[in-house]
Order: sequence, then C-alpha cells, then structure tokens
Amino acid sequence: MDFSEVVKFHGHVCPGLTMGFRAATLVMNRMELSRSDDEELVAIVENKSCAVDAIQVITGCTLGKGNLILRDYGKQVYSFIRRGDGESLRLAVKWQPPAEDEETAGAWQRYMAAERTPEVMARIKKSKSRKIKAIQEAADDDLFSIGPAVEPLPPKARVFPSLTCALCGEKVMAPRIITNNGQDICRPCLEAKNSTPAV
Ligand SMILES: [Zn+2]
Ligand SMILES: [Zn+2]
Repeated sequence: MDFSEVVKFHGHVCPGLTMGFRAATLVMNRMELSRSDDEELVAIVENKSCAVDAIQVITGCTLGKGNLILRDYGKQVYSFIRRGDGESLRLAVKWQPPAEDEETAGAWQRYMAAERTPEVMARIKKSKSRKIKAIQEAADDDLFSIGPAVEPLPPKARVFPSLTCALCGEKVMAPRIITNNGQDICRPCLEAKNSTPAV
C-alpha cells in the first residue's frame, strides 16, 4: 500500500490526504500491523476530512466494517486501538505549515472569498504543493503529539434485526427505530413529522 493507492481512492493529492497517510503509516509501523482485514484495529477519527480517506486505505479501518468511528469534533486527532492487547496510539496534529509570502497569503484571502481566477488558482496550487512536500518530509514528532488513546475500546460492530417503519414502510435497524405516539418510525420520518406544522 503506497501513496498512489491512496490518491487513486481519494481522487486528488492534497495536504490533508498527505497528513492522513503519514498518520496511518506511522501507526502501522509503530504498532507493527498489517492491513486490518477484520476488526483487529479500530480507528477513532475526530473529523471527516481528506485525511480519513488515507486512514481507511492504509489501515483497513473502514466505515462499512464498523472499525472506523467518526467523532465529528472538527479536531485533527486520530486514535488507533488494537483489540486483543489494547495497545493504542493517539495522534494529534500539531504541525504548522511554513509561513507564506505576502502574495500567497493574499491569494489565499482571495480564494477564501471565492475568487477562482487563473492567477489565484496558480498560487493556491503552488502553496498546496509546498505544504504537501513539507508534510512528506517532516519528522513524526513535528507532525503529531503522540500518546496512548484516551477513549476506551468501543464494542465490536453487531448485526441487528430490521424493523419496518410504520410511516414509510422502509426497513430500519432495530436500535435506530424510534417509538413516537405508539408508532415505531425511522428518524427521517420523525424529523419530517416534527417539521410539518400540525393542522
Ligand atoms: Zn483531499
Ligand atoms: Zn420512515
């Protein structure tokens, strides 16, 4: 598994993906893991950025398998826990991008204000390439604060029976069904019901 596999999955090269790749390879090396085919390794990610795609490809912790857990806190923190021996690592990004020159800083401001002229785009592209290179070359300890995971190991993914929503008739995993006025319904139906004013 190398960076090109990650880029293929994600669709483009970007600083976030590069950071996720560094986090994932660090964990695989330090914990002496091979790609998780089952649920041996659990990843807890605290954002849903580009980095998470690299983590899925490299570690094999995926949303579908239930061993990738999203805590949407908007933090660049990635924790990994191994089932069995409970060994863990928590990586908190502490890296600061290299300072931009005045023209690049100006281009970023214009980019944030939705300007997409060729001049701005060229500067943004250069700036991103510099960031990617800097992340690729940085030492582990300059990228991350590294420690053990603070969150306990989450339970294994379970399979639940399906129930039928009384309003839309679609199937719902049992723990997600909501009982509302004596009816078993799904969350979208509950939300639709609550947003429609009673007549
Ligand atoms: Zn990206
Ligand atoms: Zn429903």
